[in-house]
Amino acid sequence: MRQPQLSVIVPCYNEETVLPALRRRLEAVCRAQTGDAYEVLLVNDGSRDGTWTLVQAIVAENPCFVGVNLSRNLGHQLALTAGLSLSRGDRVLIIDADLQDPPELLPQMMAAMDAGADVVYGQRVAREGESFSKRATAWTFYRLLSLFSEVEIPNDTGDFRLMNRKVVDALSQMPEQHRFIRGMVAWLGFRQVPLGYTREPRAAGSTKYPLRKMARFAADAITGFSISPLRLSSVLAFCCFALTGLVAAYVVYAWFALSVVKGWTSLLLLFLIFSGAQLLVLGVIGEYVGRTYVEAKRRPLFIVDEILTNPAHVREPR
Ligand code: UDP
Ligand code: MG
Repeated sequence: MRQPQLSVIVPCYNEETVLPALRRRLEAVCRAQTGDAYEVLLVNDGSRDGTWTLVQAIVAENPCFVGVNLSRNLGHQLALTAGLSLSRGDRVLIIDADLQDPPELLPQMMAAMDAGADVVYGQRVAREGESFSKRATAWTFYRLLSLFSEVEIPNDTGDFRLMNRKVVDALSQMPEQHRFIRGMVAWLGFRQVPLGYTREPRAAGSTKYPLRKMARFAADAITGFSISPLRLSSVLAFCCFALTGLVAAYVVYAWFALSVVKGWTSLLLLFLIFSGAQLLVLGVIGEYVGRTYVEAKRRPLFIVDEILTNPAHVREPR
């Protein structure tokens, strides 16, 4: 089978109500863009409803569709990872099953890529039909993330994006367990351009991201891209030492000028000095734990976009 021009990855968790509409709309845009040189990977993430039966029927009817059945519910990000590693297309589109991200934006994304982009990511300029609490938590989350994160992760983006093969291959060199894919793609670099769009309401069914899953997702995002929370005790140690200086001055003054209870001066000073020392040691441990954590992720040290040589000089491989 020849290599498809386009792979579309759709994570599906209990999405039987939206799959027929999704299939219709994806088929139309993919066919218009590539003829039949596309593949759609429907990744069933341990659904408990009739999703997999429906996927089997769709694959039987259209050979461009591929069903991937995960062993159990592994979560959105791992379902995407499975899809990415099985995809074969020159370009790869990630899209949610619930049609909140309109498939009809594909031609615009393809055009931006033809113009030189390596990643075209959807950026929500408006969200329709989502509850106030969902919008408020999402807003807070993206602002917190940009405060902590060591790489710039664009605000208000999801995983809805078109990437070329170069980016997908680089992404699969990142073996970390707790995956926050939109952040990992931002970390990679290359030429990334946004495409503003309005996020539509879910076509059918209900959100598969309850508060519990959202909190875990936010923790993966922040800890995956920052070790600054571990530096907190170093910061506190310095505050404590500054405070020790001030209090020491007062205590010495009080010892001379005011009549204080015997022992108060030495107790207070010892307390402040040892609290500061403990915080400092915790901060040092935090630094080492942070470094061990970064090493444990085993991310590639660098990623080469291209190597330019002058054809007059033959560069022997090492
Ligand atoms: N999803 C998944 N596994 C999960 C949770 C969600 O594959 O454990 C899929 C889901 O089917 C959908 C996408 O991830 O295609 C995004 O989920 P959802 O639309 O429920 O999230 P929301 O848009 O409400 O944040
Ligand atoms: Mg959704």
